Amino acid sequence: MKILIAADMEGVTGVTRWEETEPTHSEYVRFRRIMTDEVNAAIAGAADAGADEFVVTDGHGGGTNILVEELDARARLNSGGASPLSMMEGVDPETAGVLFIGYHARGGSRNAVLAHTWSSGRIANVWLNGSLVGEYGLNAALAGHFGVPVLMISGDQTACAQAVELLGNLEMAVVKKASGYFSAECLSPKITLPMIRKVASRAVLRLKDGTAPQPFIVQTPVNVTIEFRQPESADRVVRLPGAKRLDGLQIEFSVPDMLAAHAGFRAAVKQSYD
Ligand SMILES: [Zn+2]
Repeated sequence: MKILIAADMEGVTGVTRWEETEPTHSEYVRFRRIMTDEVNAAIAGAADAGADEFVVTDGHGGGTNILVEELDARARLNSGGASPLSMMEGVDPETAGVLFIGYHARGGSRNAVLAHTWSSGRIANVWLNGSLVGEYGLNAALAGHFGVPVLMISGDQTACAQAVELLGNLEMAVVKKASGYFSAECLSPKITLPMIRKVASRAVLRLKDGTAPQPFIVQTPVNVTIEFRQPESADRVVRLPGAKRLDGLQIEFSVPDMLAAHAGFRAAVKQSYD
């Protein structure tokens, strides 16, 4: 049974500032280790429940945060980028389920550490067929394209609640309680690591007994609406084939499936600046 562990960094316990997730800052060294430990805890939990193949995808920044030398040796690591499926590289029809580790809430959320959707500087909001999504939604929909469900999320309470609201009754590990964009009450890794292990195990057991959430399948064709932060970004992105300007900040496009929607969205984010 193959499990994909899709990892980000903003939702790891202890992280409350951007600097802590940036390689140029001295504190980053600590948090990339905690990120690696949280991923290892998820692997251990999935293995406890009988999973025997583990692919980890490093989804933060350039994808070079997880310490490969400290990663559970049973796992293979997707590192670097831009890879074909970005934060979901490695997902395929053979994947039994996805665990989101270190995830954050969507852009504009209250009581949510570093809440954003792909680019805090350029993107305000993203909708799929009219439903507001964050990275958790975009990535879960890509997994859904392959018929793969998201089984668990770890992060702050707002990220976890948003994922449950959109994706159904998945397992969650709340590792910190956000009180603002830059503030949270964080649990010790001594608490969060056993917690993540237990929750990951329960998530995989639910898959085996048929009570896990269904894959998040977005109706096709898929309409993608993006609200930028600056009109200049919309000026640029509307040049992409099929893109339509809605107002000063918003563009939309329609594509045959979620694979094309995810790719189109990433192209739009890149096109939004020179
Ligand atoms: Zn990130």
